[in-house]
Amino acid sequence: MPRIRQQNVLAAQWTPNGGALGAPDLTVPDNQIFGSNVFSPAVQRQRLPKETFRRLQHTLARGEALDTSLADGVALAMKEWALEKGATHYTHWFQPLTGSTAEKHDSFYAPTDEGTALAEFSGSELIQGEPDASSFPTGGIRATFEARGYTAWDPTSPAFILENPNGALLCIPTAFASWTGEALDHKIPLLRSMEALSKSAIRALRLFGNEAAQRVFTTVGPEQEYFLIDEQYYFERPDLITTGRTLFGAKPPKGHELDDHYFGSIPERILACMLETERELAKLGVPVKTRHNEVAPNQYEVAPIFENSNVGSDHQQLTMQIMQNVARRYRLVCLLHEKPFAGVNGSGKHNNWSMGTDGGENLLEPGDTPHENMQFLFFCAAVIEAVNKHQGLLRASIASPGQDHRLGANEAPPAIISIFLGTQLEEVFGAIERGEAGESKPGSFLGLGTPVLPPLPLHGGDRNRTSPFAFTGNKFEFRALGSSQSLSFPNTVLNTIVAEAVDELASELERELDRGKDIEAALPPILQRSYSANKQIIFGGDNYSEEWHAEAESRGLLNLRATPDALPYLVDEQTTSVFSHYGVLSARELESRYDVSLEQYVTKLNIEAETAASIARTMLLPAAARHLAMLLDAQLSELASETSELIDQFTGAIKKLETANLAENQPHDDTLEHAVYMRDQVIPAMESVRSVADRLERVVADDLWPLPPYAAILFIK
Ligand code: ADP
Ligand code: MG
Repeated sequence: MPRIRQQNVLAAQWTPNGGALGAPDLTVPDNQIFGSNVFSPAVQRQRLPKETFRRLQHTLARGEALDTSLADGVALAMKEWALEKGATHYTHWFQPLTGSTAEKHDSFYAPTDEGTALAEFSGSELIQGEPDASSFPTGGIRATFEARGYTAWDPTSPAFILENPNGALLCIPTAFASWTGEALDHKIPLLRSMEALSKSAIRALRLFGNEAAQRVFTTVGPEQEYFLIDEQYYFERPDLITTGRTLFGAKPPKGHELDDHYFGSIPERILACMLETERELAKLGVPVKTRHNEVAPNQYEVAPIFENSNVGSDHQQLTMQIMQNVARRYRLVCLLHEKPFAGVNGSGKHNNWSMGTDGGENLLEPGDTPHENMQFLFFCAAVIEAVNKHQGLLRASIASPGQDHRLGANEAPPAIISIFLGTQLEEVFGAIERGEAGESKPGSFLGLGTPVLPPLPLHGGDRNRTSPFAFTGNKFEFRALGSSQSLSFPNTVLNTIVAEAVDELASELERELDRGKDIEAALPPILQRSYSANKQIIFGGDNYSEEWHAEAESRGLLNLRATPDALPYLVDEQTTSVFSHYGVLSARELESRYDVSLEQYVTKLNIEAETAASIARTMLLPAAARHLAMLLDAQLSELASETSELIDQFTGAIKKLETANLAENQPHDDTLEHAVYMRDQVIPAMESVRSVADRLERVVADDLWPLPPYAAILFIK
């Protein structure tokens, strides 16, 4: 049997991991595993002295700093709990600017004079770590001679145990800062932005007569898309190993045209893997809720129940890690790249976002009374204003080379940011703009000033899957995130810009109220002004269409196609001003993020380009040459000259790519210039190599072609 088909047969074989997990009786309390590896408030209540527990909860509720005596008490209980679970080590778990998570393990054990070892873990070890970690990107915030970086315990995200077949590890979520106190991670700004939004929203809620709420939390519920492929193919593809995506591969005869995969029954091996993944996540307290097949073959989606943005973002990082770990137990590999296969839908992440009070009220949930609806419209208007004003920044917050393949490729929203409100809500805002407040048609859900309103049919309301930013009943869904991306930065941006808009609208409202108007009279003209000034961002049609691109341009909306076009918005004046006003990121901290993102763009593309050149020259070209020799041997001159011509083209394209990759040919003085060079010179050179390679794949003998084809990778489960 030819090599490739033999491998396919191998890849199709699988057995449940180990003896399989079985299906335990879930009515037995001991079989409930949710949160069993989390140092949750419930565990804390059990294990901490009463007074320590009370003080800790109090400190957390008020968002205050912890004192060391309190930390010592918590550390002691946490250590005992971790040791019982077999943890020999602990780590401060943090999120450097690379976008992934980082850990450095320390043993609990220290030797004693008597030649034994004692487990120790103090409050100060819990609160602060000094991992040094001088090799993380900082965008110039730290010169290496002042390389000291500190991690600081984030008590608002619970500690957890990561299990391994050979032991366990206590992970303590932490923030990561320089010795000067500047944020070197994605958590610190997220926490700062949540604080900023809470303040603004509470201020606004007071104007609506809500005296009870003390804090407002932003919430996030991500829907994560991913691929699962057999590991056999993965390890045979140096491009997948090195870059996370296939740099070569002809389009298979069958794609997702038949829509036979989407929401289809989940193949047994995949389901087994999902069940174990979800089991591991449940132990870690990640509330996974839904799973289904996605559009592309071998593509799937998982979504948890929403949580506050900080915990939700930590859980999302954990989810990606656990998905990748567990997949290997089933001889699968989980691909999180935004575009692993050209010509096949890529993977994104929907970031469902809302704001809720400590009393449990969702501020983006339309209510049953005119008063509740006024409040809802106020917050909704703030989101519209924020998104319109900061389109460029939002686009920049999701920019990466992987995303450049996806956004605007008619499988994901375009690079143009716009908002979908749904017909009903758009009508309501339209009526407000025309000054028709008070009208309430049967079946419509809102009307300012009407005494009685029908219940809201919005939840089942219309959907628009082409919109990058859609209102979906009681939340906004930022649908343009990349699948491998951390949630932290896009949420930091959302929180900060909405805080600003809420404050602006609240100031207007305050002025009117101070003049003695009541809220029913004061609000409509403010909403009218705000909507009218920002409605250019509202679009309910097909975001994939050509007409939209033209119309968006005539409306003056930004269309930032590639990463180097978007990133400068991280440091423009408007961004710097809002971030520094709310103390979320200083100009220097923003500058560092800009530098790191540019650098990552350049570096990732360099790696891709070098990998492409090397595969082309050392794997594909020799295969094509062997094929040619075979044709010449058989005196098939017509086929030989066809192949020979392709080989000439291929050689030319490879040489061009190699030249573009040469360090001395790349600009080095300015990173933006370097990024633009990658976009304009290196990417097209890579694409030409690929296009000839994909043609060769269709002519070279199957048993000579060294890379497993899409038709196998995407369809064998
Ligand atoms: P759909 O695919 O229709 O968008 P899903 O049920 O797949 O719906 O996903 C909805 C997501 O929205 C879930 O992750 C859920 O947790 C999240 N979500 C629901 N309510 C909120 C909220 N108030 N804030 C943030 N996320 C939310
Ligand atoms: Mg969704």
